[in-house]
Amino acid sequence: MPTPSVDPSFGRMLWRGMTKRCPRCGTGKLFTRWVRMVERCPGCGYRFEREEGFQLGGYVINFGVTEGLVCLAIAGYIVAAAANPDVAVWPVIVGGAIAAVVTPIAFFPFSRTIWAAIDLTLTPLSLVEQAEADTAVAARSSARRDDET
Ligand SMILES: [Zn+2]
Repeated sequence: MPTPSVDPSFGRMLWRGMTKRCPRCGTGKLFTRWVRMVERCPGCGYRFEREEGFQLGGYVINFGVTEGLVCLAIAGYIVAAAANPDVAVWPVIVGGAIAAVVTPIAFFPFSRTIWAAIDLTLTPLSLVEQAEADTAVAARSSARRDDET
């Protein structure tokens, strides 16, 4: 099990978030299902939902990426239509509709871990949160030892 990096850089935490890993320690397997995130990181005990409404940031990231893809499709159509006014619009409508439905689902876990990285950068763990994380890791290790005996 990886040990938490003491003070990972923002770039490192962002990369970890973009690969669905804990921004604090880099541990994976943070989702029990595609849209169900564990409460605490199994590696370092970091509690992802630090306050009520915490995941609103992840929602905004997911929304921005989805709308960005739809805008790219529209911009592509505008460029194509400028060169050739007879270009069909239905591929853009179908492609945009599919992107608007599939992207938020496909990007959901990434948006949550990316937001966790941004939030952790903006608001580093307090001493209380650090102690709770350490306690959670110690409790999990103790339970694991009990199971082995
Ligand atoms: Zn972690």
